[in-house]
Amino acid sequence: MKKVFMLVDCNNFFVSCERVFNPKLRSVPTVVLSNNEACVIARSNEAKDIGIKMAEPVFKCRDILNFFDVKCFSTNFALYGDLSSRVMRILESFSPKVESYSVDEAFLDITDLEEANYFDFGKAVGDRVYKYVGIPVSVGIAPTKTLAKIASKQAKRSGGVCVLLEGVNTVLKATPVGEVWGIGWASTKKLRQNSVHTAYDFVNQKPSWIVNRFGVGGARTYWELKGKSVSEVNNAKALPKSMAHTRSFKNPITEKSEMRKRLVNFASSVAAALRADNLLCHEVIVFLKGDKNRDVYYSNGVTLPLENYSNLRTDIVKLVGKGLDRLFKSGERYKRAGIVAINIISSKDNNSLFENNTKRKEVAERAVDLLNAKWGRTITVASDMLVKPEKTFSRSPEFTTKWQELALVF
Ligand SMILES: [Mg+2]
Repeated sequence: MKKVFMLVDCNNFFVSCERVFNPKLRSVPTVVLSNNEACVIARSNEAKDIGIKMAEPVFKCRDILNFFDVKCFSTNFALYGDLSSRVMRILESFSPKVESYSVDEAFLDITDLEEANYFDFGKAVGDRVYKYVGIPVSVGIAPTKTLAKIASKQAKRSGGVCVLLEGVNTVLKATPVGEVWGIGWASTKKLRQNSVHTAYDFVNQKPSWIVNRFGVGGARTYWELKGKSVSEVNNAKALPKSMAHTRSFKNPITEKSEMRKRLVNFASSVAAALRADNLLCHEVIVFLKGDKNRDVYYSNGVTLPLENYSNLRTDIVKLVGKGLDRLFKSGERYKRAGIVAINIISSKDNNSLFENNTKRKEVAERAVDLLNAKWGRTITVASDMLVKPEKTFSRSPEFTTKWQELALVF
């Protein structure tokens, strides 16, 4: 049976989250900046219109930001994450088959719905999300996930819902090949060199030509664009291959003790991220990178095993010292470092013999996670303490996850 997919994509998600509790921002150019405020990671339509580019470094567009009085926000992931899960819960009330593909996008399998209802259904979903959460969405409906992605982009231009079952070729002709889901920057370059500029040009190549140059991934995209679905809506979350906390340093690090502090902090975040997703890891990579501008560029990493599968801060932090002893060279100026957890399993699948002891420790660490999530970072392990980078832009309150930051109405 022919399948039908619906993609629900939150418009300018982070900016829309900021606007939910701050309606004055509506119709005002607004952007959200990355964690360290280095670049723009979300833009309102008004900000797009005045020419601010995605991922543009702040120092490059500072003049435009000032000139147009663009409202700038530091990321507030607690707020975005909470609103995202509210959106997902609403989508789950419409279909049992929902795949939350990213923080602001989800695929729904709507094969069982009657065709005549597609548009109205899409509209009802969008209306309910907006009414209950306050986030505007675009809805694309099509026979494959890749086409549903294209349809949702069309929906942004045409007011909310686009059903792409007929007239597909016209839309493919208007879609630059680089905008197709799954076709990356390098492939786009290669395709353009072969005079393939639009999605329509792409599907008019021979399948063998695609496979030879772009492998199985290319073939999947090809068939999906032709309307033949090769992927399902996947309710189960795929296990991540790795979980990492890495940073570039504005000022190079030269002291081992300073590097240890940073890495302990990264290890602590990786452990918390594993616990948050009920995952365990068995190996940890510690890496250090030097200054690329130096004559001899030092970059090295080491993979260290854990005794058992673990998501405990105490276990992962222990490896920092081992890694540093093997990697750290004095006299080097380090510009980047990180901790990457690999060999990951779900905690459900853990049959460790040492479970009891580990379980007890995990309960303790989870209690700290919970308190920190509820009351902000109130509990900090002594060795985690670090001077926070200076923030220049404001973060909005955590309206939905912290009692002391609730919005007040007078
Ligand atoms: Mg989006």
